[in-house]
Amino acid sequence: MALDARALAALAANPGCKRRAILDGAGVDKAALAGALGSPSAFGQSQFALTRGNAFEAKVKADGGAELLRLVHERLDPAAPPPVDASAPELAAIGPEGRTARTALALREATAATGGWTLLDHPMLALDVAGSAAFLEPDAVVVHPDGSWTVVEIKSFPMLDGSADPAKVGAAARQAAVYVLALEEVAARLDPPPRVRHRVLLVCPKDFSNLPTASAVDVRKQRAVTSRQLSRLTRVQDIADALPDGVCFSPELPVEQLTAAVESVAATYAPDCLAACELAFHCRDRSRAAGAVTSLGRSVRAELGALTTVDDVLAAARGEAGDPRDPAVAALRRAAWLRAEALDAAAPRAESPDAPWTGRTPAAGAVPACR
Ligand code: SF4
Repeated sequence: MALDARALAALAANPGCKRRAILDGAGVDKAALAGALGSPSAFGQSQFALTRGNAFEAKVKADGGAELLRLVHERLDPAAPPPVDASAPELAAIGPEGRTARTALALREATAATGGWTLLDHPMLALDVAGSAAFLEPDAVVVHPDGSWTVVEIKSFPMLDGSADPAKVGAAARQAAVYVLALEEVAARLDPPPRVRHRVLLVCPKDFSNLPTASAVDVRKQRAVTSRQLSRLTRVQDIADALPDGVCFSPELPVEQLTAAVESVAATYAPDCLAACELAFHCRDRSRAAGAVTSLGRSVRAELGALTTVDDVLAAARGEAGDPRDPAVAALRRAAWLRAEALDAAAPRAESPDAPWTGRTPAAGAVPACR
């Protein structure tokens, strides 16, 4: 399954989206697909950012990871002996399954040899996601002298005066939570199972320099949310079975054919997609064209209950549709009445705010401007 931790974290943030699940599961290049659909993505890392990130990671891991281990010791385990003569096992093997098995063996050996530090550089972990194995490659995993394990995430965004952009830290924490879940599956197969620490180490450039600094990030909440959401994902095979015959997502196809293929899989667009999925502009346009209230945000969608389109909402506010006993309908009518009254203060209404709006006074256009 062509999923990495970033994709899994994004999937977990929108577990109801079958479109993303099938495209990720099939390994479709969503950025290329978005471009072919005529809605190029503004999401993803630039080549410059990737190059800078790789250079920074190499600097952090230089000299056998001495600086990285120093930061882990300082921020997460200062009572342990300092990390001198740490081991760094070779993890090369053929194929992702081979690398996963090699990583599990290295973790078991490092945990059994308590008393020292071990750095696993780019280990390979596997996580069962909706019935398929996803292979994940954290930047590093450190085994502490007490046998516990820590996930290390190395990012190229700066940490200014000890704090970084909360949105970027949040995304890194969600990604690290996926690694923690995968590590816990490895740990569960050992006897006794070692402790997988829920405080991960986030390493970033310090201020505007290229010097590494680090912060411990508690990912318990992200781990719990991700675990729950991943368990709710529909099996990719079940989604594929429901597709019409001959559906293909190749960006080489004519745009009409490609659009029909993409639209044949249900999507649950929300504004959060803009920061997490390459297809966001395409799905936003479709969602707006359908008048879906989810395009206004999940909280708005939740408040509106059974009213799923903007037309339904406007009709309910006008008193043309909707059950007045429905709290959402009652609130909409009251809001429409208050707004109309405010706009028409010179002509006081005789009607109660709880009565359906008759359209007599104020003017028919005086309803909430949801669009
Ligand atoms: S942008 Fe579209 S495909 Fe991507 S997660 Fe959102 S709704 Fe799903």
